[in-house]
Amino acid sequence: MNNTNVHILIVEDELRIARFLQIELEHEGFRVTTEENGEKAFELIKKGGYDLILLDLMLPGMDGMTICRKVREFSEVPIIMLTARDDVEDKVEGLDIGADDYMTKPFAIQELLARVRNVLRKSRGAGTVSRGDSYVVGDLVLYPNTYEVEVAGEPVQLTRREYDLLEFLMRNKRTVLTRDQILEQVWGYDYSGDTNVVDVYIRYLRAKLDDRFDKKYIYTVRGVGYVIRD
Ligand code: CA
Repeated sequence: MNNTNVHILIVEDELRIARFLQIELEHEGFRVTTEENGEKAFELIKKGGYDLILLDLMLPGMDGMTICRKVREFSEVPIIMLTARDDVEDKVEGLDIGADDYMTKPFAIQELLARVRNVLRKSRGAGTVSRGDSYVVGDLVLYPNTYEVEVAGEPVQLTRREYDLLEFLMRNKRTVLTRDQILEQVWGYDYSGDTNVVDVYIRYLRAKLDDRFDKKYIYTVRGVGYVIRD
């Protein structure tokens, strides 16, 4: 499984735990979003695009049980409940209302990762993730719904940033993009680091796409920026 295509939402108001989970999951290559407020989390889930939700039970705004029950009215997205209460009834209720699994805090990260993989495997097997629309440049195809990238049908593993950069280039196929435009769109307005970062990531992408498959997708327009085309 290509983890960079998997987007996990962590709903957890204990920021120390949320941060820890985020670091561990990102280390495994997953895309991670965190939200500490239950109500806001529910709004995010309604918008869609997540492959797995890690859901704390006690939350400000809306509790985890309520979120899980409401989500199940419209979505089969896998949910792993994180509960601080070692209470059997809670666990049973959690699974009853449609959670796929639960973890009792404190938990060992390796066990959580194993359960994440297990739940994802099951959901993939059930074919619940729809690829939807795609961007195409020659043999190169990118599926925004599933964050999957393929060259001639072969999957390509990208980091989050590489993926964002590629998506921006492909959305603007045949349009020359300046380094400033790329920085603003992919790294954000408040990015204050080295502008060479664009060139560095273009190199990463070329290594994983152009070089690996012996193709040419990404072109340098000297003094201006970059463009992707057939
Ligand atoms: Ca909590």
